[in-house]
Amino acid sequence: CEHCGRETTKLHYCKSCGLAEKDQCSHGDAFPYRKKEIDIREIFSAALKTLNMRNYPDLIKGVRGTSNKDHTPENLAKGILRAKHDIFVNKDGTTRYDVTEMPLTHFRPNEIGTSVEKLRELGYDHDIYGKELESEDQLLEILPQDVVIPACKESPDEGADEIFFRVANYVDDLLQNLYKLHPIYNLKSKKDLVGQLIVGLAPHTSAGIIGRIIGFSRTQGCFSNPVWHAEQRRDCEGDETCIILLADLFLNFSRRYLPAHRGSTQDAPLVLTTELIPSEADDMIFDMDTVWKYPLEFYEAACSHTQPWDYKMEVLNDRLGKAEQYEGIGFTHDTSNINSGIRCSAYKTLPTMEEKLKGQMRIAEKIRAVDTGDVARLVIEKHFLKDTKGNLRKFSMQEFRCVKCNDKFRRPPLVGKCTNCGGKIIFTIAEGSVIKYLEPSISLAEKYQVPEYLRQSLDLLQRRVEGVFGKEKERQEGLGKWFG
Ligand SMILES: [Zn+2]
Ligand SMILES: [Zn+2]
Ligand SMILES: [Zn+2]
Repeated sequence: CEHCGRETTKLHYCKSCGLAEKDQCSHGDAFPYRKKEIDIREIFSAALKTLNMRNYPDLIKGVRGTSNKDHTPENLAKGILRAKHDIFVNKDGTTRYDVTEMPLTHFRPNEIGTSVEKLRELGYDHDIYGKELESEDQLLEILPQDVVIPACKESPDEGADEIFFRVANYVDDLLQNLYKLHPIYNLKSKKDLVGQLIVGLAPHTSAGIIGRIIGFSRTQGCFSNPVWHAEQRRDCEGDETCIILLADLFLNFSRRYLPAHRGSTQDAPLVLTTELIPSEADDMIFDMDTVWKYPLEFYEAACSHTQPWDYKMEVLNDRLGKAEQYEGIGFTHDTSNINSGIRCSAYKTLPTMEEKLKGQMRIAEKIRAVDTGDVARLVIEKHFLKDTKGNLRKFSMQEFRCVKCNDKFRRPPLVGKCTNCGGKIIFTIAEGSVIKYLEPSISLAEKYQVPEYLRQSLDLLQRRVEGVFGKEKERQEGLGKWFG
């Protein structure tokens, strides 16, 4: 209760007699929500009072409406504190950081920016040769659920260290001022994130796994044991996942915020795995080899086109259920530093789709092992064709809008203007969104050898688009070809 702080009971609303104790009334269903005007100023100042805040941020973002079944809103105080700590929120109440999954079996302290003392505290007391950990260049085997989070300075995006530092401060602020409890993080610097727990959750799944931060890489990858990645999803290198600070998840996630439509539980951390058990991970990882060296026979077998299953090499599957499933895993080629190389992909720094695609095709042309026609085909099929077809469909099913009063129309009124205020009626889907990738697809298909079937699909699509928008010479020339 905002007034006395005591626990409240949920009331329901009956359309005939008003407030009801239960979700059923003699008149039928009583709803957990109703439409009514609220005095936001009063609610806002009450929230500030709860938080003991006098000043508040200039911009506090909210959502236009609630899409969950009961229309349960989040406590406004949380939104105010998020704005204060400059963090974004996901639809389920958590703050997520998107990362690229990178497998890591071994590391040196100087690669992850964590001191020897701190690593010893975390359980890394010996290197892989059994020598006591004393110096920053000793090689260590990563513990199964330990994670090196990204802190890349070259990227236009903020590092996970920056974001999680602010999230931890937000959680502490929340605990102290909204829940009136003790703070749990008490971080003085970003380095203090080392040792804290996170949750990894891959897109389109709803089972997360707990990990522990042990340091920071200067890349944009989230480095962890390959099995930790496999526990989240099928393929573990180069795929995308997101990480969430554990206390943020416990404190702020609620199933009640999730939209009522089907599929909303995807991407929501409904189940949490606390202990990594390799036999429960996806079986694709079982074929990962765990040896220190590939023998000459292996290369000879490869030369004579032996099938992989006909050549025996130790793989993770051979270690399942034994202590060796967690430790003593080998690698064949050492690197001087996991942070060497390109740290920020040109895909992120190139501003337009045209430049990104031209760059991709330039590389494809340079690499002999790459079939340029196939790259062009994939780009057209997987991205452009889907995008154009989808937007063409949306265009024909769109709503119309009045420029003056913003009234929406399923079909444009016959009088040709807004029946509400007489304003001009316009499209809600732009023609540009439909045709933007059509010309690029056609010029890409012309320049590179793409299959005849695809060429004809594009031709048909072009005719359909022209059937909707007409065939104007100026427009086609105005668009310009990306490839030619
Ligand atoms: Zn009260
Ligand atoms: Zn009633
Ligand atoms: Zn109008």
